[in-house]
Amino acid sequence: MFDDFAEEFPGHRLSVVDLRPICDCGWAADRYFPTTEDATTHWLRDHAFPAVESQPPNWLVVKSDVLREQVEEMITTRPEAALKLLAEVEKWHRPLTTKAVQAARHRGASWTDVGSALGVSRQAAHERFRALEL
Ligand SMILES: [Zn+2]
Repeated sequence: MFDDFAEEFPGHRLSVVDLRPICDCGWAADRYFPTTEDATTHWLRDHAFPAVESQPPNWLVVKSDVLREQVEEMITTRPEAALKLLAEVEKWHRPLTTKAVQAARHRGASWTDVGSALGVSRQAAHERFRALEL
């Protein structure tokens, strides 16, 4: 039955051991549940959905990788054109990052969550973006 979730939650596969849900990514519930169904529901709602929702869709990551590779190629053949394109990207990259941080904070993300998503420390994220909340 747990294999039903395998396609929906890539990277996360549920097991229930003594009615305690654990995930093969390393997550484990901090308590036990009265039924297997309750344990499964807890895994879904408190772990699997949030874990998968916090990841960008794979097709978009692939597009981003393709764009980066094409710009790298352009740098070798047409560096000035690459500079113009990079300037364009920078024009929307910074405001969108700010907007995403604000949206994440409004939805309850901690500075640790924001830092983790950006690949920086909690402190670095807070220092860079705290002015948004003043
Ligand atoms: Zn997991």
